[in-house]
Amino acid sequence: MDFEPTEEQRLALDGWERFVRRDIAPVTERYRDELIPKEAAHQLLKQSIPYGVGAGWVPEEAGGVGLDFLTSGLLYEVLARVSPDFAGLAFVTEGAAIKLHRTGSPALKERYLGRLLAGELIGCSAISEPDVGSGVREMRTRAEPVANGWKITGEKMWISNASIADVVVVLARTGEHQFTNFLVDRAEHGFRSAEISKLGLNGWSLGQIFFDGVVVPEENIMGGLGGGLRETMHGFERSRCFLSMLALGISHAALAAAIDYAGQRHQLGKLIAGHQLIQSLLAEMAMNLDAARLLVYRALSMMSKGQRCEKEAAMAKIFATEGAVRITSQAIQVHGACGISREFPLERYYRGARLLTIPDGTTQINQLILGRALTGVAAF
Ligand SMILES: Cc1cc2nc3c(=O)[nH]c(=O)nc-3n(C[C@H](O)[C@H](O)[C@H](O)COP(=O)(O)OP(=O)(O)OC[C@H]3O[C@@H](n4cnc5c(N)ncnc54)[C@H](O)[C@@H]3O)c2cc1C
Repeated sequence: MDFEPTEEQRLALDGWERFVRRDIAPVTERYRDELIPKEAAHQLLKQSIPYGVGAGWVPEEAGGVGLDFLTSGLLYEVLARVSPDFAGLAFVTEGAAIKLHRTGSPALKERYLGRLLAGELIGCSAISEPDVGSGVREMRTRAEPVANGWKITGEKMWISNASIADVVVVLARTGEHQFTNFLVDRAEHGFRSAEISKLGLNGWSLGQIFFDGVVVPEENIMGGLGGGLRETMHGFERSRCFLSMLALGISHAALAAAIDYAGQRHQLGKLIAGHQLIQSLLAEMAMNLDAARLLVYRALSMMSKGQRCEKEAAMAKIFATEGAVRITSQAIQVHGACGISREFPLERYYRGARLLTIPDGTTQINQLILGRALTGVAAF
């Protein structure tokens, strides 16, 4: 396996990195610990999409940028070093767009896909509920047929982009063992949302979405009746890899800050970089970051080849997100008391990393996926 970027990829990544530092960072800096407002989110998306962030996974002939998953992932990693919050916002919108591309009717795509891929609409995917997290099949949100389409009733929780989304791909129960995806348009069909106050990544919306008997037309079914769970599981491979890219970006930023600080701070008569135990911390951080990268790149390159990567994506997600918690904590340690000060970015990296072990399969659920793949025995 060769993950060395080609000359073309390298040029694209260099151009993107310059753009991120020059044009994205000054905006996202303002929203380090507060929600990126909807207007700013649209503006950032519109600027990023030409580089492939926000529309990279959808083929060119369908209006996307048509990147392979590895290249797209590398772009997200670069962005997440500067703003994991905006990276999350963009990939959740991109996730909704790719679900629409893969499973939407021609009429639905005609109405929504182009606008999602242009940054005019912000999307999200709603699966989790207050009482339903890891056990998706227990979901209560239901859709029932009515004269003019389907009526959706229920509450979704912990939904990324909830407060600023224009459209939501919602998974609802349509039968005892049947789950179906519907596209719901906030302006046309109406849904309410409420933001949840949380530990970190506070530029990125996370909230509740309420469907109070919302009626959508038949054509808003995505992937046919009963096709929702299969598409959701397929989407998890993608989202596990992309969440891992956020973890890599945050870990990279934390390691870079720690190296920089160790090269400036003197204690006991020398630079702390010259203390062996500081070198040990830095060495372990670098080793775990590189190992996480290799796992994530492997899963992404399998997706690029059209291969399923359930096991590899689960492994990558566990290692990269748990690794980010450890790496950001070690970066705080290298900084001593400065590491916990809000004057430095370390405590923010740590808070952001801590969130990532939970979504798209907690560490434990991903361990169970691995266990099932290794033994052939399902423990959940
Ligand atoms: C930052 C963030 C973004 C999110 N974005 C979205 C989104 O866009 N859309 C969406 O639908 N959801 C989203 N979620 C929700 C996320 O998918 C759920 O939080 C996740 O699936 C876990 O569900 P839960 O929080 O209800 O925990 P629970 O399922 O209640 O789990 C609680 C604890 O029990 C453990 N556990 C559960 N079952 C087992 C088992 N069988 N064996 C061993 N341990 C088990 C879990 O690992 C966890 O430690 C997001 C969450 C976060 C934190």
